[in-house]
Formats: sequence, C-alpha cells, structure tokens
Amino acid sequence: MLELETRRTAPIYDPATGQVQRELELADAADVDAAVQAAKAAFGGWADTSVVRRARVMFKFRELLVERTDELARIIASEHGKTVEDARGEVVRGMEVVEYACGIAELTKGEFSDQVSTGVDLHSFRQPLGVCVGITPFNFPIMVPLWMHPIAIATGNTFVLKPSERDPSVSDVIAELYREAGLPDGVFSVVHGDKVAVDALLDHPDVAAVSFVGSTPIAKYVHERGTAAGKRVQALGGAKNHAIVMPDADLDFAADHLTAAGFGSAGQRCMAISIAVAVGDTADELVEKLRLKATAIKVGPGLDPASEMGPVITADARDRIVGYIDRTDADVVVDGRGLDGDGFFVGPTLLDNVTTEMEVYTDEIFGPVLGVVRADSLEEAIALINRNAFANGTAIFTGSGQAARTFQRDIQVGMIGINVPIPVPMSFYSFGGWKQSLFGDHHIHGPEGVRFYTRGKVVTTRWPDAPEQAHLNFPTAR
Ligand code: NAD
Repeated sequence: MLELETRRTAPIYDPATGQVQRELELADAADVDAAVQAAKAAFGGWADTSVVRRARVMFKFRELLVERTDELARIIASEHGKTVEDARGEVVRGMEVVEYACGIAELTKGEFSDQVSTGVDLHSFRQPLGVCVGITPFNFPIMVPLWMHPIAIATGNTFVLKPSERDPSVSDVIAELYREAGLPDGVFSVVHGDKVAVDALLDHPDVAAVSFVGSTPIAKYVHERGTAAGKRVQALGGAKNHAIVMPDADLDFAADHLTAAGFGSAGQRCMAISIAVAVGDTADELVEKLRLKATAIKVGPGLDPASEMGPVITADARDRIVGYIDRTDADVVVDGRGLDGDGFFVGPTLLDNVTTEMEVYTDEIFGPVLGVVRADSLEEAIALINRNAFANGTAIFTGSGQAARTFQRDIQVGMIGINVPIPVPMSFYSFGGWKQSLFGDHHIHGPEGVRFYTRGKVVTTRWPDAPEQAHLNFPTAR
C-alpha cells in the first residue's frame, strides 16, 4: 500500500457548480490484488451457501434499497448532475434486477431426463464461476452495476466492482447495504480506480469473468484483453440510437417522447435517442414541435426540484459537446451553447438537415443534442439505421402495425421500441445491443445474465442392479 501523499487521486466534481467536492484515491495493482484475494477466499463458502439463503440476502438487500432510495438518488444527483427524480428512476430500474435475483432458486433449476438409455438417467446443473468483476460507466452509477452484481452474487459468485471514478460514492453505500443484508465479507467489494485498476483486473489470474459497460473503444479493448487472459467477458459499448417518425404517427406524441428521450439526463444515456429519422413530409412539422418543446425545458442543478435537465458530467464533456455544435454544417435550430454559470451546462440542442456523413451523425456525442435526418420511405430509413456502426436501441413512431412489423423484423439492432423511445428491457429479459454496441456473446441481466455467471455440467448416471456387459463400440441408447 502506498502512503496517502504518494497516491494518485482524481477529482470528483459537483457538475452543477464546477467545484471539486473531494479527491478520490485511485487503486493500484496491489489494492486490486487485495480485493481479488478477499473475493477468492470468500468464494468457496459463498458458493456452498444454499441457494435459499443466498436468495434471502437478496430479499433483505432489496428492502434496504427501498428504504434508502431517496438518499441514493441524492448522492447520484450530486455527483452525476442528473435530477433527483431521474436518479430515483435508475434506482428503481436497478432494483428490479435484485427482484429478479430473489428468484434465483427457480432460475437455476437444472434438467433431468429419466431413462435416456435402459437404466441410465441424465441431469444438468449450473455452477458459479468464481471471482467476477464489473467495470461500469458514469452515466448510471447505480443501475448499471445492479445489472451485474445481484445475479453474479445470487448464483454463488463473489464480485469486485470497479465503478466510474467520476461518480463513485453510491457504490460504497451499496457495499454497506450488502453488509447490512448479511452478505459475508469479501463476497462484494468495491475498488475505486481508473485504467490502472481496470488493467490489473483484466490481467489478474484469479478473475474468472468480466462484465463491462462503457464506451465502444474501451469495451473492445476490455473484451480483447480479458478474453486473451482466458476470461469470460461481456462488454457493452456506446450507441447512436435512431427513432423513425412515420407520416402516420401522432406527431405531438412523437415530439413529446423524442424530447424526453433526447434530452433526459442531458442525453447521457446509452439508450438516449440522438437521431430522429423523419419519413416523408413529416419533417418540418416535427422539427417545429421539437423546437417548441426543447426550448421549454428547464435546465438547472439536479438537486433543484424545479430542474428538468441537469449539467453534463465534466467540463471536458461540455467542451466536447459544444465543439460538435461549433463545427457542424447542420442547421442549429435550438442552440444549447453559452449558458451562464460555472457548472458544466449545455442546453438542449436541436439540429436539422443532418446527413449521414456529418460527424454529428457518425459519432456518439453523449450530450443533449438531437439531430433530425430526412428519409423518403420506411425502407430507406431502415437501410440508413442498418448502415450505422452502433446498434444498441432504436424506435419507430407509427400508427401502422404493418410498418411496425416490417421495422422489428428488418432492423439490425438489439433493442427495439414501437411507440416506445427508450426500450430498456425489464430485468427478466436481457439487455444488449448488436455490432459495435456489444462485444461478447451474452447480453446482460435476465436469463442471459444467469447463463453468463454460471457454467453447466451434464451428468450421466447408472446404478446397475446386475453386472452389465461392456463392449468396445461407441455407446448408443439401449
Ligand atoms: P468509459 O468507457 O470512459 O468508462 C467506462 C469504464 O471504463 C470506467 O469504469 C472507466 O474507469 C474505465 N476506463 C476508461 N478509460 C479506460 C481505459 N483507457 N482503459 C481501461 N479502462 C478505462 O465510459 P463513460 O464515459 O464512463 O460512459 C459513457 C459511455 O458508456 C457511453 O459511450 C455510453 O453509450 C456507454 N454506455 C453503454 C451502455 C450500454 O448498455 N451499452 C450503458 C451505459 C453507458
């Protein structure tokens, strides 16, 4: 362990004021090793704990999350910048994964086949992997880790979380709640850090599996480095989510929901809609409705109940977003630049006549910038979305079941909404995109989460009543 003075630290800001709230000490490889060793030591006892007792810890953990929801939401709002109400929403959506994990006994039931050959039975069951790791982004500091650890822990693994170093505090409260819920020491722990900690986790020989959520370049890197070290890795990356607006859509409804999906959490959601594809002659009317709604949004500190949209996470993020607006050739219909104050604010920004070669189209901006692209037909709109490198979420606004059916069948995207602009699946389904939005084979939480954190065994059993003659031929059913 290094002395405090020689430790590397990172500032945690209040994005609403631009002030540093505190310095976070960043873990080095020795800190990572200590956490992994503690998780490894706890694994045998926890994996042997009955599935019913593991589930009971989850029931208790869920009760504590309910009791502490307001406190958790305020901590998130103070470091992330989103509104308290929005933060409460992520606590609830994350808690739903805990509720799913409460049913772990049902979810991990094996299969049994009687008499697959004369006197022979066959059964399968799944076992935990060992020490699992979560590496998570800043934008959902409680929900994204909750996509991972309740299922990893309920299935009998131990878990080391490396949350974002920009809004880390809520993860320490989660560790406290698990302790209060009766989880033994070492089963869940938090390591605060940056690339140094991530690399140490990816290379550690005692880490069995890594769940990552973050930007595409880092997701690809984590997947490559983790799998090269022999680990199971699921790495969810960035997004550029399109919503098609068909001529038969209810335009008021579409504009209302696009505004919420584009500017909620200042556009810092992996399922935010950043491109609206207006089909046919809807574009001008849609842009006008979006303009009115975007300019009406109340931007302010996340802790102020009057605010509808808070700041972005850092000054760098603000400057990067403003840079995109400065450089664009698209029409800036609503301009979010130049807001007063020292906080990291960018207002809602609406761009019209965006084309697919513009950087505001090709890049994930991850801020409150909604672009409008025009297309002549549903087929053209679908082809445009299918050419995009990202494929996390997408939506269609339409009054036509036929158009919706064509869309859901032909679109090459993992999560689809029909008149639902942020189609985040419930916890009992799995969450994940396609193409550059996910590296690995498993989507996260739901049934695929259970599979990710376990591996299967198949057992063939015979208890002969009388000696049976063996022969050298390959055995077939008798
Ligand atoms: P990020 O990729 O910068 O960071 C994610 C994690 O990786 C953090 O814990 C960070 O400490 C670590 N990290 C950062 N740089 C690293 C490096 N060079 N080497 C090793 N580790 C590194 O992402 P972010 O800015 O915190 O979050 C925003 C991004 O996350 C957006 O791209 C967003 O679309 C994406 N995201 C995706 C999903 C999804 O489900 N697909 C969900 C939420 C966020």
